Amino acid sequence: TVRTRFAPSPTGYLHIGGARTALYSWLHARSHGGQFVLRIEDTDLERSTPESVQAILDGMGWLELDWDEGPYYQTQRFDRYREVIGQLLDAGQAYHCYCTREELDAMREEQRARGEKPRYDGRCRHRTAPREGVEPVVRFRSPDEGETVVDDLIHGRVVFQNSELDDLIIARSDGSPTYNFCVVVDDWDMGITDVIRGDDHLNNTPRQIQILQALGATPPRYAHVPMILGPDKQKMSKRHGAVSVVQYRDEGYLPDALLNYLVRLGWSHGDQEVFSREEMIRYFHIEDVNKAASVFNPEKLLWLNAHHIKHSDPAQLAARLRPFLQQRGVDSDAGPALAEVVRTQQERARTLVEMADNSLFFYRAPAAYEPKDAAKHLTADALPLLEAVQQAFEALEDWSAPAIHELVNRVAEAAGAKLGKLAQPLRVAIAGRAVSPPIDVTLALLGRAETLARLGRALH
Ligand code: GLU
Repeated sequence: TVRTRFAPSPTGYLHIGGARTALYSWLHARSHGGQFVLRIEDTDLERSTPESVQAILDGMGWLELDWDEGPYYQTQRFDRYREVIGQLLDAGQAYHCYCTREELDAMREEQRARGEKPRYDGRCRHRTAPREGVEPVVRFRSPDEGETVVDDLIHGRVVFQNSELDDLIIARSDGSPTYNFCVVVDDWDMGITDVIRGDDHLNNTPRQIQILQALGATPPRYAHVPMILGPDKQKMSKRHGAVSVVQYRDEGYLPDALLNYLVRLGWSHGDQEVFSREEMIRYFHIEDVNKAASVFNPEKLLWLNAHHIKHSDPAQLAARLRPFLQQRGVDSDAGPALAEVVRTQQERARTLVEMADNSLFFYRAPAAYEPKDAAKHLTADALPLLEAVQQAFEALEDWSAPAIHELVNRVAEAAGAKLGKLAQPLRVAIAGRAVSPPIDVTLALLGRAETLARLGRALH
């Protein structure tokens, strides 16, 4: 069975690029009926923080990229790494290196002087005795000749000359294992069949393959995913706007919209733009991911978000919207059913933030009218119309959208006014501004008492 993993280093939030890598890994597992493993690569003790771990878990949870195993933590596996280092030492596939910094510097200096690329020349490979007073590092003894081939699922065949790869340090002088080594042991122990990760790791791969081969393990398949660039074609960063996944959550994006955007960023299925989770799982093939970097397009993300909002189930959307209203001091249980309010907003809101802002008036009378709209619509001409409609509302038996619709039309007609001459002042009186969902539905939801109270205030 296929087993993939997402292996973030907890040195910051879960960013857009990481989320896409996680998504591709997750999709690859899900579309093969396989398993998805989460592994926290926290061996960099200085840069890893528990807050970052939490931020990554929060981001994954919000995106609903569920994992079948883990999270594993590398810091809890040091004994295992030491054990494997011991095995490699015993088998002569690794050795202690006692070279001092000064010696290494001098060696590189000479190599440069000879016009060679600096590399460790393996001088400690045959040392038999320890050196007094020096704590050695452990180096992997890499093959001197031949080549190491990465058959990448995205980039195709990438060939590395072994002569270019020197003996990698796998344990520091304090005994702590190094990054590339931990990844190898983990991927091996965790039975990972497909490694999907950023292509900034492609150069690590031949070394990882060599170590796996030395351990007698079958290397996994690799897929190196290209980078995401900002609109200016530079590596995506904070100056391009939000890069952290939870920031998109807080700005009112739906997780499915963000996933839909991310899956298309570097992958396509015909000319289809909109994908549900199920469709992504059905159509995704890692082999179809582009080799070239992709450019982040915030407008397209916004467009997709609007689309997903429009086609979401109102009750589910209401559950997502509720916290945004709470943040704005509104208790959405005290007022019209939120799912019904959502229904009136789905067509126009592009984010949950917009939807929340546009829904506040259902739960709270506007504290003040939008000055421009009030000046334009709450005019001396409009007041008699509002008075007439107020009276008609009081007498209306059936407080429903169709009845309200008919009544508003009738009042406008009777006064010889265009519908807008009544509807717009009505909007300002009710919502505080000249933009709202259709007025009949709005008033039906708001209820008669609240409608009359707000009209009374406008006419006061
Ligand atoms: N921890 C690495 C990173 O966050 C990923 C390494 C891997 O996937 O092999 O970039």
